[in-house]
Amino acid sequence: MKIRKEPTRTCVGCGISKPKRELIRVVRTPEGGVLVDESGKKPGRGAYICPSSECYARAVKCRRLHRALGGEPAPGLAELIEKLSGKG
Ligand SMILES: [Zn+2]
Repeated sequence: MKIRKEPTRTCVGCGISKPKRELIRVVRTPEGGVLVDESGKKPGRGAYICPSSECYARAVKCRRLHRALGGEPAPGLAELIEKLSGKG
């Protein structure tokens, strides 16, 4: 029996490794903005985060998101994560 290993990424919020498809990819655009990369294929510096506003808050608080992206997260990003987390 073959076990197919899924690619995993680490959430910048909680630091837990999860299958890539369970996480949201956020990328920093060349213009300096940050957006949610729903296709997972956008070029640029990216970070992975759980679809959870808690993980987002933690990532921002610990400045892990800033470090991963190399800049400030866009103001609308919190709302996007919240929407994807199913709360809004
Ligand atoms: Zn997380």
